[in-house]
Amino acid sequence: MFLIIGTKFITWGSAKTAETIRCSNCGTLAQFTEKTGMNFISLFFLVPVIPISGKKRMIECPNCKARFQTE
Ligand SMILES: [Zn+2]
Repeated sequence: MFLIIGTKFITWGSAKTAETIRCSNCGTLAQFTEKTGMNFISLFFLVPVIPISGKKRMIECPNCKARFQTE
């Protein structure tokens, strides 16, 4: 059997931040979307099977989609 293995970064979550934040990429002042993401090993680039990193929390600018990592 031939397996194609790759990595895939999956994010989920759509909560809005409580405060408005100014995006350092595009300058928009807005409530950002809070997301959680993890890197997975995936089969055939489709099926995430094994998480290879811890959860990363980030926020995404609603205007330009730039992501910023949070602690
Ligand atoms: Zn932005």
